[in-house]
Amino acid sequence: MSSGIPNEMKALRLHKAPSKYYELDDVPVPKAEGSKVLLKIGSAGLCHTDLMVLEGSFGGNFPIVGSHEPAGTVMALGEEAGKLGKVKVGDRVAALLPKDVCGKCSDCTIGDWKYCGNSKYGGINTDGYFSEYALVEAKHCVVIPDKMTFEQAAPLTCAGVTIYTAIKKANLNPGDILAISGLGALGSLGVQMAKAMGLKVVGIDARPEPLALAKSLKLAPDLIIDASGTSPEEAMEDIVKLRPEGYKGWDGADVTILTADPISSQSFGTSITRRHGHIILVAQPPELKFDFKNFIFQDLTLSGSLHGNEVDLKETIDLVDKHDIRSDLQVFKIDAHQKMIDATHEQGRKGKIVLTFSTFENETTV
Ligand SMILES: [Zn+2]
Ligand SMILES: [Zn+2]
Repeated sequence: MSSGIPNEMKALRLHKAPSKYYELDDVPVPKAEGSKVLLKIGSAGLCHTDLMVLEGSFGGNFPIVGSHEPAGTVMALGEEAGKLGKVKVGDRVAALLPKDVCGKCSDCTIGDWKYCGNSKYGGINTDGYFSEYALVEAKHCVVIPDKMTFEQAAPLTCAGVTIYTAIKKANLNPGDILAISGLGALGSLGVQMAKAMGLKVVGIDARPEPLALAKSLKLAPDLIIDASGTSPEEAMEDIVKLRPEGYKGWDGADVTILTADPISSQSFGTSITRRHGHIILVAQPPELKFDFKNFIFQDLTLSGSLHGNEVDLKETIDLVDKHDIRSDLQVFKIDAHQKMIDATHEQGRKGKIVLTFSTFENETTV
């Protein structure tokens, strides 16, 4: 192949599920055809969903390259991708995971293709981005600022855009109160974005490390609640203090976003949300368990929020760039992929795990 693109590459593939680890394989470099562009991957994130894929939650179609959070350099464009004119060879981009959206279903026709039931998803049911090169859809690429590293850009394509879209869905005005229950990778990005948007932010977690990380942020929550030693009633007393003098509305957060799986996180989140408030679910817990009293007597609305589209990703990248919002990273090279998976099981882990293909050492590369 021309343009210095090799024929073979290294890739982390899953051959069956459940599996503990990926296999490090040599595979052919895919060709940029149709609507797709070939990226030289700079970094790709490891998301909670990847662990669900390893566990077998999404079924077969093996072998499959893991990861759905790519950032890299455009190396080649398919014919349609070239005509689209959105990106060109040499652009540094972040990209969304859907591939081959049908373009015909009711959601695709209104541009809401993230709900397309016919789509494939990189790293979930088609090859993802834990490889030196990978295909993405040209229309799902967003050019990233020169000063943004691939390692910081990769987590924005899932964790970042997901929490940004959920905050957008909250439809709040500056000064309104947003609670984020769960301060992991998603939650800590969300706290910073919500602060940058002028919201009053309540960060909730029961684990010491995420709480410490939230406290250390430049755009830290206005109120941090350690749910391991605070009752919802005590938390409400502090939340009400975030309201301006003379506030005549209801007690509690206007909207609460649930980013963590534990049932305790769900019940705490609903208890501290104000009457007629809104709960937005972005976590993917095996079960939901709510007290009917919260929903009936507080008149709560529950909605889910899925990922985002290329407009949301562009807005996410712009916001993150403008306010210098950072993910706390644990960076691994491809040869250390087993250590990368082991790190997800470590007690006291915090921040976001990414794989890097950069040749220089940065952050805390393993
Ligand atoms: Zn994800
Ligand atoms: Zn569709």
